[in-house]
Amino acid sequence: MPTGHDGGMADPDKRCRWCARPFTVKSGPGRPKEFCRRSCRQRDYEARQRSAEVGLSDDELVMTRAALDGLRDRLYVLEAAVEDVDRDLTGTPTKSDYREAVEWLLDAARPLAGEWESG
Ligand SMILES: [Zn+2]
Repeated sequence: MPTGHDGGMADPDKRCRWCARPFTVKSGPGRPKEFCRRSCRQRDYEARQRSAEVGLSDDELVMTRAALDGLRDRLYVLEAAVEDVDRDLTGTPTKSDYREAVEWLLDAARPLAGEWESG
C-alpha cells in the first residue's frame, strides 16, 4: 500500500458534515474536506440553497415531509424492536435467544443505516 507521497497526517476523527459518518482526512493543499464523499457535499449544498431561499439560518434544514415520515417510521420500527428484545432477553435467555435478538435488531436498524444514501 503506497504511503508517504501526500505527506499528510491522517485525521480519523473527522465526521462528515452531512451524514456524520467518520472518515479519514489527509491534510494537504486546499480546504480541509468536510464531507465523506461527493454526494454528501452535494446534498449539503442543495439543502443550504433551499435554506437560503426560505431564509433559514445555517443550523436549520428543509426536508420533505415524506423523508421525515420515512425516518420516523424507521425509528418507530427500531424502537419497537428494542422493546421486543428487552422483553425477550429478560430472565435467562439462551444463546439462540440472543441470536434472534441481534437479527431482529439488525433488521430494524439496517434501513436507518442506509437512510442517508437512499434519501
Ligand atoms: Zn457523508
